[in-house]
Parts: sequence; structure tokens; C-alpha cells
Amino acid sequence: MTVYIVNAYDIMTRTILPVKLHEQMTVTVDDIRIDGMGIVNITPTYPVYIADAIPGEKIILEVTQVDKFSGYAKVIEYLETSDKRQNSQRQYLIDAGTAPLVNLKYEAQLELKRAQINRLFQAQKLNVAVDTTIGMENPTYYRNKTIVPVKWQDGHLTSGFYRRGSHELVPMTDYFVNDQAIDQAIVKVRDILEKYQITAFDPDSQQGAIRYIMIRRGYYSKELMVVLVSNDEIIAHEDAIVADICVQLPELKSLIFNFSPKKDYVLLSPNNRTLWGEKTIHDTLLGYNFIIGPNSFYQVNPKMTEILYDLAAKKAKLKATDIVIDAYSGIGTIGITVANRVKKVLGVEVVPGAVADAQLNMRANHVENAEYILADAPEQFKKWQDAQLKPDVVFVDPPRRGLTSELISATVNMAPDRIVYISCNPVTLARDAAEIIQQGYDIDGAVLPVDQFPQTSHVESITVFKRKH
Ligand code: SAH
Repeated sequence: MTVYIVNAYDIMTRTILPVKLHEQMTVTVDDIRIDGMGIVNITPTYPVYIADAIPGEKIILEVTQVDKFSGYAKVIEYLETSDKRQNSQRQYLIDAGTAPLVNLKYEAQLELKRAQINRLFQAQKLNVAVDTTIGMENPTYYRNKTIVPVKWQDGHLTSGFYRRGSHELVPMTDYFVNDQAIDQAIVKVRDILEKYQITAFDPDSQQGAIRYIMIRRGYYSKELMVVLVSNDEIIAHEDAIVADICVQLPELKSLIFNFSPKKDYVLLSPNNRTLWGEKTIHDTLLGYNFIIGPNSFYQVNPKMTEILYDLAAKKAKLKATDIVIDAYSGIGTIGITVANRVKKVLGVEVVPGAVADAQLNMRANHVENAEYILADAPEQFKKWQDAQLKPDVVFVDPPRRGLTSELISATVNMAPDRIVYISCNPVTLARDAAEIIQQGYDIDGAVLPVDQFPQTSHVESITVFKRKH
């Protein structure tokens, strides 16, 4: 008979965790996660995450959640605070999750983003220099667009944010990251809807009309677009509401009703009806004109987008003879702003409305050497490869999930001299970089982070790959 002797210590290490629920302890914060959560390493393999806790701070924490490999805690008391701390009166933005880094001084935010990219490249065993993050001169009130939920609470129409995991709408009027004219417009539109007792969509009963108020404002043009996103197909007192909004918002250029039943759409639907004014607004970017509709993808930080695209174009070392691909092209912003420096631009984008906008934008800017194609980027790259296209420069600006292996292979087979990767997610950037390098490219210079989203954990960067000869 075999007797199995189970080591009691083994069982203990597997089942007994280093913290208990509701346990309080005095600790020093070790590190910070990219989403702004402080990290305390209770043991070398068991971290506990704490909102609003900065490395170096001495705190008393209380454990609020115990999982197998990590836990969560809240701060009970700050015994020593960090000199990197700021904006203590803006805790509500951390609770809302809309500006999770707001308590960190801006230089520390920029360094956190640089370090995050560095760490992810190292994890891929890529020895790459990462430049200091280029930041904004004034990293507040920068967004040209916002969309906020509304709800009737305590007899008032409230606009703000849903507390995580609840149906309670916490009122907010100062979002800290939006153009302040946008914050003011939200309140005015909301109060007009309240005056006419318009129903708001209620997540509990799944009944009611208005779900969101969306506002866009041109940075240079100052043109304002208001979109009422509704669960119902009609809005009561439409004429009176339109008249009041026009009086209250003199900058208004476009007032849109977006019929977006909750069961079919996450936010906006493609069903727009112009209640007043134009269907679109305009703005300029690096001196070029862009048409922006309710559903258009348009970068939200106009000032930093100009810096980002300008640097990307410079790093691409464009030549008048270059054939350039603009992949994941949106409404054509990158291609249109570089077209006059190169021979030909070929864009590819999967959203039909965005491609239509890109074509309008080409015409609005008298660009004649660009072509925007509606297709899935990896499939189009394969077609270009089969057609023996030989681009000199390939710009890629993919969504968070990054590139696919198919797209990378097709790119490498077309053998462009330079690949300019604009990334909004360093996790997929580092993964894709490893593959691109493995297939015969080197990183040219350093990765350059450009802070498009101050106060938030989003990390945007430019990386140039050069073909090995
Ligand atoms: N370069 C543009 C848009 C970047 S956002 C700008 O800076 O304004 C990423 C874009 O990729 C979005 O417009 C999205 O619609 C598009 N996209 C997402 N998946 C795609 C795919 N499989 N093929 C082509 N485009 C895609």
C-alpha cells in the first residue's frame, strides 16, 4: 500500500493568503499601475492594489477584496504623502474613473507612461530606448468631445457618471478634461430638457427617452455640435427645445437627434436626424480642413494630435517620390496632412462612414494624389502584396488590439523602407514590435510617447521601424 504524505506547508501556501478581508495594516506604497492604482507588495508574489495611493506614501490600508493572486484595499489614513501628489479636491474624478491619474503631478504622469512602454518592451526582451513623454503645456480642459449619461434623480435631471457597478448617477459639472465650453453646454442642454420634463432612459426600468448628451466643439473653428441620443424615436416638445438650445448656445452649428435604442447600440446609432443647422461641423488640423459628423472618429485632443502627426511625418522622413500607405485611416487625417509631400497616399479603413468622410476631406483640401479604400486592413494589405505594390512608407494607426500577424507579414513582403507605428496601446505595440523586428526591421531611434490623454492612463506613442539592408 502506498501512503501519500501530504506536506502541510504545501497546503498552507496554496490556501492561506497573506492578507485577510478587512485586515488593516500600515504600509509604504511600492509602485503604481498604469491606471493609477497604487501597489503594495505584501509578499514578493502577492500585490494589493489601492486607489489614490502613490509610491513612497505611508498609509494605513484596509483590505477590501482578497483574490487568489492579488487583493484590493482602500486607504484609511495617510501617514506620509508624496511630493508627487496634487489635486486633492478632485477625488471624484478617480471615483468616476474618468481621470484616474488626476492626483499625480503631471511630470509624474508623463514618466509613468514612459516607464510603462519601457517595461513592456523589456518584457519582450527588446532593448529599446524610450524618449521622455512629450506633454501638454496645460494638461487640462483639452477634449473636443464628450458624451454623458442623464437620469432623473430627486426631481431633477442629472448629468454625470455612473458609480462603478451601480445605477446611481453621480452629478458632475467640472470634468477637468473637457473644453470648458463643452462642460457648460452640457448643463444648459440638460436644464432645457428638464424644463420640458423630457424623460431620461432609466437603466433599472429600461424605459425613458434621452440616454446621453453628446457635445463636440471645433478647437480652431469653435463650431459646436449637440447630439441628443435617445432610446425613443421622437422627442416631446421638439420645436420648443430646439428654439431654447439655439438661444442658449450661440456657437451652435449643428443639433442632431440620434435614435439609439439601448437594446441595439452601445452609445450612438447611425440614425441621425438634423433638428437644426448643419449635419456636420468643421475644424482644422495642421491647417487642413476636416468635416466632423456625429459618428466620425476624430482625435479628441486637437493640440496634441497636431504634435503627434507632425512628429510622425518628420520621423517618417518623407520624400516627394514616396508611395505611402495610411492604414487604419479613419477620416483620412494622417494621409491628407502628408499628401502634398509625397507622390501617392493609399488609405484603408473598415468603417464606411469614415471612408466617405475621408473622401470628402480629400476634396475639401484639394488633395488629388490620395485614395481611400473601404476594407479590412489585413485583407487589403494581402491584396496590395499580391498586386506587387511597393510602398516606401507604411503608417499604421490601429485600434487598441494592434496589428495582426497577417498584416505584419504582408507589410514585410511589400518591403517598405520605413514603417511608422502610431500606437494607442503599448501592450500590443511591444508585441507587434517583436514580430516586425524578427522579420527584418530595426527600430530607428527611440520610441516616442506623446501624451494625448493627460490625467488618464492612455499611452500614445510613435515608433519608426527601418528595413535592414
Ligand atoms: N488614423 C485615424 C484613425 C485611428 S483610430 C486618426 O488618427 O484619426 C483606428 C481606426 O482603425 C478607426 O477609424 C477604426 O475604424 C479603424 N479600424 C479598426 N479595425 C480595422 C480594420 N480591421 N481594418 C481597417 N480599419 C480598421
